Amino acid sequence: MSIADNIKGLKKETEADKVILLAVSKTKPAAELQEAYDAGQRLFGENHVQELVEKYEQLPKDIEWHLIGHLQTNKVKYIAPFVSMIQSVDSLKLLQEINKQALKVNRVIDCLLQIYIADEETKFGLGFDEAIELLRSEEFALLKNVRIRGLMGIATNTDNEKQIKEEYYELKTFFDGIKVSYYRKDDSFSILSMGMSSDYKLAIEQGSNMVRLGSTIFGKRVIKHWKNN
Ligand SMILES: *Cc1c(COP(=O)(O)O)cnc(C)c1O
Repeated sequence: MSIADNIKGLKKETEADKVILLAVSKTKPAAELQEAYDAGQRLFGENHVQELVEKYEQLPKDIEWHLIGHLQTNKVKYIAPFVSMIQSVDSLKLLQEINKQALKVNRVIDCLLQIYIADEETKFGLGFDEAIELLRSEEFALLKNVRIRGLMGIATNTDNEKQIKEEYYELKTFFDGIKVSYYRKDDSFSILSMGMSSDYKLAIEQGSNMVRLGSTIFGKRVIKHWKNN
């Protein structure tokens, strides 16, 4: 199957469930993103700042770029002028820096809070309590150039479907609670980004409305860095 066929098939599948399809294009060369673009895809996700900036410069300007990987505060300034959404907000300090850089370029940047749900040491994210503490803080209330659009989570990398379902169920439940407690009258808080190639069907069953798909669209990633392609 070609990239174009994959995009068309997945668009049909996800649109039927009213789920947003984010094409995760990390490590893939610009030509392959262009192929997806030509098949109608406009939302792309990358996890490294430098790679994101270089692809932004090479590809059509109506692409909406999402950062999905861990973001260091000193790199926010490079993406603030154009990024559509930062899905990997995992601290108040990072959110404050995004706000500062967004103000400089006169933008309001959409963000998701990344919530830690996996049973693994290596994943970034806020715990449930930390997320609530952030949303309740006076410091957060001062930030006018960021807008929290929802939550993102990565499940444990396991074949155990029951475990994955439980992790996504917990995140959906938490999402509903946050919505009611903090965003009852704010429709912009609406995105629950969960699900990758290996588990997106489970994630959709559990209430995801944005899936982040890489290998299902572009094939396996054999290299770590796109410039070696
Ligand atoms: C790489 C990545 C994905 C996509 O992974 P696939 O298994 O290739 O679909 C999704 N989300 C995040 C945060 C990623 O880093």
